[in-house]
Parts: sequence; structure tokens; C-alpha cells
Amino acid sequence: MGKRALLSLLLGLVSSFILSCATKPVVHEQAFILIPHSQELAIGNRAAAEILKKEKLVKDPRYVKRVERVFKRLLKALPPKFRKLYEWKVYVLNNPQVNAFALPNGNIFVYKGLLDFVKDDDELAAVLGHEMAHVILRHGAEKISWAMLAQLGENLLLSQVSPVNRSLAAELYDLGVNVAFLLPYSRKQEKEADIVGLLITTRAGYNPEGAIKLWERMVSRFSGQEPPEWLSDHPASKERLDYIKKVVEFLRKHPQYVEKFEIPQKLLEVD
Ligand SMILES: [Zn+2]
Repeated sequence: MGKRALLSLLLGLVSSFILSCATKPVVHEQAFILIPHSQELAIGNRAAAEILKKEKLVKDPRYVKRVERVFKRLLKALPPKFRKLYEWKVYVLNNPQVNAFALPNGNIFVYKGLLDFVKDDDELAAVLGHEMAHVILRHGAEKISWAMLAQLGENLLLSQVSPVNRSLAAELYDLGVNVAFLLPYSRKQEKEADIVGLLITTRAGYNPEGAIKLWERMVSRFSGQEPPEWLSDHPASKERLDYIKKVVEFLRKHPQYVEKFEIPQKLLEVD
């Protein structure tokens, strides 16, 4: 592909973004999303297949049944629209790390190490609700879009797409599959996922204090040593803990937001 063709593709993508600027659900924030929903699902499916090729699943029902029970209850608490949009499924990976992550198609991966760490269902619901929130808020698609734009810019500068026999679309698709689970989320995305995660757990009838207890234990358990995977992507700062406490308090006082599955702008602006 020549430089001109790349440039027009880039301009096309950017103008289509400007014309149809996506707005994230629930938080109603503007989002930079270049890929359609169908692509989110396709990229998520591909990434899931690659993970399942490399990692072993836990078969022990004490782990699997527990995760599925909490996950199902959270899923039932979502407004039907969000239940239908994704291919919701939870996997337990046989890995001692304290970690969990979500793919843009709604597949969520929880590590055995995290299940050994959480004390009760309220804490487990806090992790799962947070990961589900990343999916609903299309944070994966946002990460992928930024990476695609960067890749397009780089190709434009080098004025080539390599290897020659591959199309740019295929290259961007592969990039998306990697970005879907390798790149961390931004701080803003984490904040949004914290709030919407609390909305989900509260709707499902779990105690939102579970999130506070979980973060407090994460901070004290891992302070002064190398943080586990989930913590390195989710910095357990005092600020984050304070913010989560404020959100829990706000939702307790304003249950109408839990009911509506909406977040007022002012809550996102609180430090
Ligand atoms: Zn997160």
C-alpha cells in the first residue's frame, strides 16, 4: 500500500470517528473507538482461543462452581441490553498469580491465585464486577483503537506495510488481538471501571464494602514487594481506596443510580 492510500485510510478512519463520535454507556463519556462492535467480538474470540491454547483450566468444582455462581448472579443484575451484547463467559486458569482480566467479547479470565486470595463472595464479586465494567464501557475497543492509530501513523511515516503480502487490515487485526490483553488500561478507564463495577455488584445484592476490604488487604499484603499481576495493572493507591469509599457512600445515599444503571458526571470528577 502506498503512502497516499495509507493517508486516505487514516483520514477516513479519523473522520469517521469525528462524524460518529462514540459515547460510552453508563458514564456517558466520549470515547475514541474506531472498530465496530462485531470486531470487538471477533478480536475477543481470537484472543480467548490463543489464551486457552497456552493456559490450563482449573477443573476443581470448588473453584469453578464458586466463580460461576457469582458471575451468573452479576450477569443477571445487568440490564438485558448489556447481557445480550456480549458473549459472557468466565474461565478459571490454573495459575498461582493473583490476576484477572477481561476480553472485549465478554470472556473473563480469573486466575486460581486470585481465588485463593479473596476471602468471600463480596470480594470476588468486586473483581468480577470491575472486569465486567471494562467490557461494558468498551475499554478494550478504546485501547485497540489507540494502538491502531499509532500503528497507522508509523506505517505512514515508513510509507510501507510489511510483510508485503499481508493486508493492512490483517495487520491491524493481529495488533488488536495482542493489545486486547497485553496493554494496561488508562487511569481514567480504571476509575470508570471501579464505579461501574460497584454499580453492578450493588445491583446484584453483594455488599459493595467487599471492594474496600479487598483493596485494603491488597495494599497491606503486597506493600514493599513486587505487586502481583492484577495490582500492577490496578495500582492499589490510597487515593484509589479513598475514591472507592466515596463511591460506595454515594451509591448508598443515591440508590436511584444503581436502579437506573447510570452515573452522574460529578462522580467521575471527584478525586
Ligand atoms: Zn481494571
